[in-house]
Amino acid sequence: MDENKICFVCGQEKLDGIYVFDKYICTDCQYDIINTSPEDEKYEYYKECMKAIWDDHIKEEDNVNV
Ligand SMILES: [Zn+2]
Repeated sequence: MDENKICFVCGQEKLDGIYVFDKYICTDCQYDIINTSPEDEKYEYYKECMKAIWDDHIKEEDNVNV
């Protein structure tokens, strides 16, 4: 699991980061996500990334009961 530390948001290999559900997010992107204001053009991108992570998680939860 530790072998594949490719950040889901920036697509780069980063050694520092956390798994949010099954997606890896580097500390740089975590910082950016927290500190990007809604006026910033990157905000929409980060929002979509977080939404994708969340949607995947919900789908996985649904599958548990199948
Ligand atoms: Zn990143």
